[in-house]
Amino acid sequence: MKRRDFLQATALLGGALTLPAKGYPNILPGKKPKHVLIIGAGLSGLAAAYKLKKAGIKTTILEARNRVGGRVFSHQPVKGESQTIEMGAEWVGASHERVIELCQEFDLKLFDNRFETDLIYHGKHEKAGKWSFSPEMETFWNNKKIYWDKLSDKEKEKMDQMDWWRFLSRKGFSDRDIDIRELLDSTDFGESIRKVSTFCALAEYAESSEKNEMDLKIQGGNDLLPKKMAAAIGSDSIMLGKKVSKVEQSREGVRLTCANGEVYQADQLICTAPTYMVLKIDWQPVLPVSMTEALQGLQYARIGKFPVVFSERFWGRENFDCVTDGVGHYFYHGTKDQPGKKGVLVAYAIGDKAEVLHAQPKEARLKLILDSLRPAFGDLSHLVAGENSYYWGKDQYSYGAYAQYGIGQWFDLMPILKRPFKSVYFAGEHLADWQGFMEGAINSGEEVVEQMLS
Ligand SMILES: Cc1cc2nc3c(=O)[nH]c(=O)nc-3n(C[C@H](O)[C@H](O)[C@H](O)COP(=O)(O)OP(=O)(O)OC[C@H]3O[C@@H](n4cnc5c(N)ncnc54)[C@H](O)[C@@H]3O)c2cc1C
Repeated sequence: MKRRDFLQATALLGGALTLPAKGYPNILPGKKPKHVLIIGAGLSGLAAAYKLKKAGIKTTILEARNRVGGRVFSHQPVKGESQTIEMGAEWVGASHERVIELCQEFDLKLFDNRFETDLIYHGKHEKAGKWSFSPEMETFWNNKKIYWDKLSDKEKEKMDQMDWWRFLSRKGFSDRDIDIRELLDSTDFGESIRKVSTFCALAEYAESSEKNEMDLKIQGGNDLLPKKMAAAIGSDSIMLGKKVSKVEQSREGVRLTCANGEVYQADQLICTAPTYMVLKIDWQPVLPVSMTEALQGLQYARIGKFPVVFSERFWGRENFDCVTDGVGHYFYHGTKDQPGKKGVLVAYAIGDKAEVLHAQPKEARLKLILDSLRPAFGDLSHLVAGENSYYWGKDQYSYGAYAQYGIGQWFDLMPILKRPFKSVYFAGEHLADWQGFMEGAINSGEEVVEQMLS
């Protein structure tokens, strides 16, 4: 069974997808809404609104930020130049069907954004193709899909009870193998693999593309997709700068109050806010205890992106990336295949490393970042032409980059978080099979509309 099928089976068993939980029946059962409110103009909210619009249903999106896109956030690092980098979502996966379809629909071009990875480990630099894992790890990694497919559903589910680091240790891999897996895999989950469930890790790696969905990018910036979707939905349906602070439900429907006092009313609501923000809303009636506990239990990954503009692309090849055991952690060429002499290396740090980099004054941060690359390139300070930073752990509307399901949480928390509450449906990347991806956000937004209209 694939992760997607697992989720559906679990949800149906618990009645999570379509049936109300015991004790909080839906007020408007089976009634097709005339007007739906949506909290959040990230990809999930936009995908839901776009689908509702196609079904002829009026929508109003309330978005706290002054822009659409949420955690898809493109940025021009050099004033006056067209180069674009991503401070949020970077890669479109080759398996991410809906993102690819929507790009086609909106005439957006995807380009090859795959990299070949150098390694800096224990002060030594090894170029891509020149370093490897032990033969034992190589064999395990090359056969992980076969390994995964042979497991029974029960065995797979049991893997949710063990962390990925312990699983690899118990397999007897060398310290070096596990250290490098930690460096590589923690960039996917945004925290140490000691916090990541083996089920989440193996399911993702077994079911992903060869480059683990780090395949493509939208030409001109990933935020062109949410912008195009917003234009298709219509600006009169999207209210920016409207932070929802209260949700009241009654037999008449749902009434939202924003922080600025404005009030919006409709038949039903789709809430796509990340869990931290869901908990900040005053819910009347209050959310069920099980839901509140699940919202409190889910952590989000602390990822920081710290792009450095260099006056020249000293790294030599466009598809350069490099994983290091320094504080800068993972570096990739953020301006790959974009014209210009200057180029950007993005330092992508996770967990405590991201927190530390964020806390430093600019000069100290830059020094830590450049020091991570020193074993490969020596002193780079004379080539620095600018720097930037975005730490998602302190983003005021998500307090994290994406959800990080810990040990035992995939099967326990997600079905509860997916349950509708009276006339409110919940969506977002944290509730999707492709969790942590743009694809997941879109899938989740579209799925709740299907439930709403079924
Ligand atoms: C650093 C980083 C790297 C990533 N890398 C990738 C990648 O390479 N590939 C990939 O596919 N995905 C990646 N992602 C994940 C991807 O960005 C997300 O999965 C997706 O964008 C989430 O969309 P969403 O609609 O669920 O949530 P969001 O984009 O967070 O949208 C929710 C919206 O709700 C708004 N909101 C919150 N509270 C309120 C409120 N009370 N009232 C009104 N509005 C509110 C927020 O402002 C936000 O705009 C990355 C994310 C980050 C941060």
